[in-house]
Amino acid sequence: MRIASTWSFGLRANDAAWPHVEAGRALDAVEAACAWADSAPDVDSVGYGGLPDSSGRVSLDGCMMLSPARCGSVAGLRRHLHPVSVARKVMESTQHVMLVGPDADLFADEHGIAQEELLSPEARAAYEKWLREGGVVDQSRDRAGAPAAHALRPVDRRHGEDGRLFGGGALPADEARWRHHDTIGCLVLDAAGVLAGGCSTSGTPFKTPGRVGDSPIIGHGLYVDPEVGGATATGTGELIMGVCGAFLVVEAMRRGAGVEDAVREAAVRIARSYALEAHHQAAFLAMDRRGNIAAAALRPGYRTSVRDSDGARTAEPVFVAIPD
Ligand code: ASP
Repeated sequence: MRIASTWSFGLRANDAAWPHVEAGRALDAVEAACAWADSAPDVDSVGYGGLPDSSGRVSLDGCMMLSPARCGSVAGLRRHLHPVSVARKVMESTQHVMLVGPDADLFADEHGIAQEELLSPEARAAYEKWLREGGVVDQSRDRAGAPAAHALRPVDRRHGEDGRLFGGGALPADEARWRHHDTIGCLVLDAAGVLAGGCSTSGTPFKTPGRVGDSPIIGHGLYVDPEVGGATATGTGELIMGVCGAFLVVEAMRRGAGVEDAVREAAVRIARSYALEAHHQAAFLAMDRRGNIAAAALRPGYRTSVRDSDGARTAEPVFVAIPD
């Protein structure tokens, strides 16, 4: 029985999900962890408070997966706060896997999910500042963009100031460096032995409208095979998508690799596949069928949050492809 989520803020997401993990409700656990991150006013990478695209509008992506036959996904929600909850409805009540754009919002309306405001006053102010002062439109493709985007993330800055996300301690400087990459991906092995995963994001700050990254794409930001294990990803989506990251990790496990070797393989594949820029980061988190976990990252500063019968903790990646 275990839950593991990306980044240090995942500690609190795991806490929100834990009663469901213990009760053997893996899907509810995944939904609760992702919904916590969507709603938390002090996590601005996903959900309410997420930075908008270059048109000033927030769009949210997410997915959920139990097995190849049971998965759901949505991308480009502009009126609903919890993409993983909408993705669950797609999985449970349609013959499809993925819905996108305004029709995905309409689908959520039809399923009784209330619409909510996604753009926080702080995110709007950050957007206006970005418009005034210029900067990068899509940080994943612009060498100069990452520092500017860091400076513009008002809510993330609070991570290190009051330490609420980190058990009273400040966000470690090496992780603060990547605070614009704090998509939540989570993997659960519940008390009944059911494995499930979910992933939720607002994407990259000031992205081109319509851009979808790895997070809601089955096999890229998330993949779960109940016979093998699961994997999720965070970081520059364009890097993860080019190597089918989460699927790559799970397939390595299927071929016999342990969790550590599987995540290492994916990080190495990214390091070898691109002309990387200084602001590029990517990390993979894997959980095998028995609940063993490991993570690997492209660069230092990524952490995993874990909760199990031994308590809650953060864990360092087992492998960093490009050490400082
Ligand atoms: N992977 C997400 C995306 O590209 C962003 C992130 O993890 O920060 O949309």
